[in-house]
Amino acid sequence: MSFSGLSAMGLSPATPDGLVCIAGPCAAESREQVLEAAVEMKRLGVSAFRAGVWKPRTRPGNFEGAGIKALEWLKEAKRETGLPVATEVASAKHVAAALEAGVDLFWIGARSCANPFAVQEIANALASADIPVLVKNPLSTDLNLWIGALERIMGAGVSRIAAVLRGFSHSFTADLRNEPGWHIAIDLKQKFPSIPILCDPSHMAGRRDKIFDLAQQALNLDFDGLLMESHPHPEAALSDAEQQLTPQELGTILQGLKIRKRGDEAANDLKINALRTQIDELDAEILAAVAKRMDIVREIGILKREQNLTVLQSTRWNQVLGNMLESGRRLGLPVALVESIAKQLHQQAIELQQAIISK
Ligand code: PEP
Ligand code: MN
Repeated sequence: MSFSGLSAMGLSPATPDGLVCIAGPCAAESREQVLEAAVEMKRLGVSAFRAGVWKPRTRPGNFEGAGIKALEWLKEAKRETGLPVATEVASAKHVAAALEAGVDLFWIGARSCANPFAVQEIANALASADIPVLVKNPLSTDLNLWIGALERIMGAGVSRIAAVLRGFSHSFTADLRNEPGWHIAIDLKQKFPSIPILCDPSHMAGRRDKIFDLAQQALNLDFDGLLMESHPHPEAALSDAEQQLTPQELGTILQGLKIRKRGDEAANDLKINALRTQIDELDAEILAAVAKRMDIVREIGILKREQNLTVLQSTRWNQVLGNMLESGRRLGLPVALVESIAKQLHQQAIELQQAIISK
């Protein structure tokens, strides 16, 4: 489904090659700003116009949205442009007010998604409404929390639903505001193949100059569409100023994105198939080597038990890690990959030996 899933949500493609893109400002700030933004988005031909009416902020004192009066501006924007309009809902009150105002599409934000009480309240309020809903991933890399939110909303009878990957909070300083966590969306897609997944590269990036690359990566990963922030005057935006694109910048991005062929057409390509066979053989060899390694780990565990030695031997672990990093460097492998493989192998070895030693 996917594309057709999105068209059932009232989202028509924004580009001739079929890309769905919902776009608009982070927040509805004033009547003038909403109308100006909506006219610009209409000119770009986006699939729907987004604007946050209520803004959940991490810390108080930041702009929390214009609130209920902004629904009038969205109504006017919809009338003026004919675009479907979308906003965030975080409570039963929001749902009732936004339904009353004729908002076409709701999204549940990352902060609300992490709170089952809030999601259930929204679900209950949605019960009799036939409205499409987007569910953004929660702030933490917890797939079940995301699935739980989707299930609560579907449980209320909402059939037109999509997920949005907007990235996950991380505690280290990095180029991006949020860690993309692509694999969590890939896992979600495996479990719920019929739920379309959009990417929100604006909140992932937190800065304009990284948005194009993230959007392209999402399309390469077969995402179904994009949710993007665009403000007529980003420098004056009351929230998320650094990540909002001018309408012109958004237009350039939409034109520049490469849409790749979807579906497993690669399965019909002889060359790709031959290479995939090699990959399968290598995967089997890797696993056989891991199994052999675990057998040896087990033997060492028995010896450690007999000699009353600790499971963790720091000097040895440093040596193992150092050897692997050095081999990886010679083979031209990324350090992060080698390090994570080494740590996984070591963690599994420790767990096995813990079990042996406590027998
Ligand atoms: C938003 O879309 O403006 C928003 C608040 O996003 P998130 O919930 O992903 O932070
Ligand atoms: Mn925002």
